[in-house]
Amino acid sequence: MTTDWDAIVIGAGPAGSVAARQLALSGRRVLLLDKKRFPRRKVCGACLNHSAVMLLEQIGLADILPKNRDSELTGFDLRSGSRRLSLPLPSGRAISRTVLDQKLVDAAIRAGVTFQDGVNATVGPCDVVGTRTVSVNDSSATSTLTAKVVLAADGLGHPSLCDISEIQDQSARSSRIGAGCEVTEFPTEYVPGVIHMAVGRGGYVGLVRVESGALNIAAAFDARLVRDSNGPAGAATNVLHHAGFPAIPAMAEAEWLGTPALTRSTMPVAAERLFVLGDASGYVEPFTGEGIGWALASAVAVAPLASTACDPPAAEQPSLANAWSREHSRLVRRRQRTCRILAALLKSPTCVRLAMFLLPKMPRLLQPIIRGVSLPTPQSLAITRCG
Ligand SMILES: Cc1cc2nc3c(=O)[nH]c(=O)nc-3n(C[C@H](O)[C@H](O)[C@H](O)COP(=O)(O)OP(=O)(O)OC[C@H]3O[C@@H](n4cnc5c(N)ncnc54)[C@H](O)[C@@H]3O)c2cc1C
Repeated sequence: MTTDWDAIVIGAGPAGSVAARQLALSGRRVLLLDKKRFPRRKVCGACLNHSAVMLLEQIGLADILPKNRDSELTGFDLRSGSRRLSLPLPSGRAISRTVLDQKLVDAAIRAGVTFQDGVNATVGPCDVVGTRTVSVNDSSATSTLTAKVVLAADGLGHPSLCDISEIQDQSARSSRIGAGCEVTEFPTEYVPGVIHMAVGRGGYVGLVRVESGALNIAAAFDARLVRDSNGPAGAATNVLHHAGFPAIPAMAEAEWLGTPALTRSTMPVAAERLFVLGDASGYVEPFTGEGIGWALASAVAVAPLASTACDPPAAEQPSLANAWSREHSRLVRRRQRTCRILAALLKSPTCVRLAMFLLPKMPRLLQPIIRGVSLPTPQSLAITRCG
């Protein structure tokens, strides 16, 4: 592997792959690294909301979306206690993360990105010649690479930044944890095209049919519920039962994956020749399913700044770091505040009961919430500046 790059991007989730692709399209030599072997699984609700779909279309990646009608998401079926709320959705797409993330990596490679999976990356200091070091470890050896700029898109808690003391990660004490699996045997009530959402004491479970026809299950639980239910399958069974959804016996045998605490913040989101994006830059519980959209939007927005950071004299680096902090706040942080409030309300059974009672009568109450968490229109992102 060449040791010096214009940009090294750590993490090949949606944030990393799209940022790497945008940088390569603007003429940069880019290395994309991931610690997992691809294709890989990832805990996620597998729902791309309408803004995320439009953004992919606008950057020329519409062809990666599944074409079958069943993967088009047009409805939301929310159940809690004895109440049920059905809402239409602006059209989104269901796609498993195994497929989506592999397709985004393939698109990055087609744009000229070099991809290396199965390697653990750790960001190091800047050196005297104005590059940043990245130490890369596979099962047999460790090597040190350098890049004019490094993008950390390595997900919750940004593990690649463990040696960078100026960037701090803090998780909320009351944060829930994520868990997910996929099953191929389930009751027919879980129809395609609908996000089925069960809300109960101690967590919620989202169920969606993905492009293969399988049922993707993703949940956010209080750690205590998982402990008391002997694991995530038991916790999901409890929540589904109390919300009035049919049981899914196959969950007990399924291979579950987990996540660390979901609600966390990162401060600051940039340093000299270093930009943090996607879940690595902070996240809130996934009830509104915005994470992939935020990751894509951040990737598109950071690329022109990171490309500029490859060239200018050292004196200009702080202003680029500040520019990313401001842009990140505009795009993501303000929306996460709305999600934080929603997550807190969801923990109160009284608030959930009240919402289930009021929303069918006054659907207009939903508009400010949707506006509060949704991305700005893709047109307002700086897509054309890059490639
Ligand atoms: C239960 C649950 C349900 C969700 N449902 C939805 C939903 O329906 N819709 C939606 O839009 N969002 C959803 N989200 C959020 C969404 O999954 C994330 O926001 C999204 O994955 C963020 O993408 P990312 O690229 O920032 O990080 P990730 O997708 O997490 O990718 C990070 C990558 O970095 C790699 N990595 C980590 N450390 C290193 C290292 N040291 N070196 C090299 N590589 C490394 C990892 O292997 C991983 O591939 C959900 C999340 C959870 C937990």
